Amino acid sequence: MSKKIQAIRGMNDLLPKDSAFWLSLEKTIFDLFISYSYQNIRTPIVEKTDTFSRAIGGATDIVEKEMYSWRESGGESLSLRPEGTAGCVRMMIEHNLPREGIQKVFYQGAMFRHERPQKGRYRQFHQVGLEVFGATNVKADAELIMVMRALWQALGLKNIVLEINTLGSSEARAAYKKVLVAYFNQRKDRLDEGSLRRLNTNPLRILDSKNKAMQSLISNAPKLMDYLDKESAQHFEQFKTYLDALDIAYVVNTSLVRGLDYYNRTVFEWTTTDLGAQGTICAGGRYDGLVEKMGGIPTPAVGLAIGLERLVLLLEAQNLMTVESTLSIYLVALGEKAQIKSMQIASTLHDTLPNAILYNDITLGNSKNQFKRADKAKAHFALILGEEELNNNQVSIKPLKGQGAQQTMDLEEAIKYFKESK
Ligand code: ATP
Ligand code: MG
Repeated sequence: MSKKIQAIRGMNDLLPKDSAFWLSLEKTIFDLFISYSYQNIRTPIVEKTDTFSRAIGGATDIVEKEMYSWRESGGESLSLRPEGTAGCVRMMIEHNLPREGIQKVFYQGAMFRHERPQKGRYRQFHQVGLEVFGATNVKADAELIMVMRALWQALGLKNIVLEINTLGSSEARAAYKKVLVAYFNQRKDRLDEGSLRRLNTNPLRILDSKNKAMQSLISNAPKLMDYLDKESAQHFEQFKTYLDALDIAYVVNTSLVRGLDYYNRTVFEWTTTDLGAQGTICAGGRYDGLVEKMGGIPTPAVGLAIGLERLVLLLEAQNLMTVESTLSIYLVALGEKAQIKSMQIASTLHDTLPNAILYNDITLGNSKNQFKRADKAKAHFALILGEEELNNNQVSIKPLKGQGAQQTMDLEEAIKYFKESK
């Protein structure tokens, strides 16, 4: 035997047994987003590396060490997308969409980051994201939060906390950066290696460190909140007014800075203590300068992304991985004539019971084998077609979940029976 082929570490398969839940989760999410008047977009998985490095920023974990990049034979560097916003902004600009007024969109799909794989952290993972272009008004920020609250409620999630902060304007951040660098410089001995590096390149990111040993150093650091420009401070106050009016609970976390460079003003994360270190399931914020920085007309924007794997892990931890049960029928067919007839019946059933799941028997085994398959498929009913049923132009229905006895009837009656079954 040849050596078994294996997937790449940190890149996972979705197995048939798990996919029903993923599909229903995605449907819940997409339907909700559509109901809030967001439209779906799809952008390529591969873009020019420049798209990501310009958008996300050079001194970020993603661009520094997490991107899968390679050089085309022509010489251009390309990358697998590590996140969805950069491609979305590139698309907006390329198609002149911001000129047409406010754009509200959502995307979904695989993202790639070269990280150390562990629970809740993978090299290929999936995000669903929302973006709003063209609105400076804090109402857009609040609407994003409102959509997510609706989603967490629809899923029944508990123990998740909304953390918010504001990063102010780039001028305010520049002033604050100086103060922060001075603070850390005086306490250099308490910084870890990564933070020492960040001190020169991206000092705000030190606040985002997950190093437990540095937490008191971080919580005692000067607060950006105290260096805010007037407009950003107002924007943040209005944001909180909206959340209060909507009865949405939050905590202000002044060290929340987010890992990407493009944010300004509002930033937020939903975190949980149920998932260990990988506790952020959804994160986002405002990025008013990005469209212009990427070559578009000045366009304010705000967005968020959910990490689907983490959301699923959380739903699993909270015992919320339920899939609504759909009527399912296994068509047991005994003998060649019955095999053909059962396909005709299946076709009729698909027309009349469009949401039902039908299992055509393709084992062509004996009755015992076919019933075994039906049990394995967890079908609610077996629809049996034997010689006798064929001769009388009837079918037999056998409930497989212990709801009553086997009955023989016309196909029309059978359809009625299935429609009434719950
Ligand atoms: P973290 O701080 O956990 O590395 P991040 O700030 O890098 O997260 P974002 O870029 O904001 O994450 O991505 C949004 C969401 O996508 C995260 O909150 C998380 O749920 C999910 N996510 C990010 N990286 C991964 C990964 N490697 N594997 C699985 N999910 C991820
Ligand atoms: Mg990260």
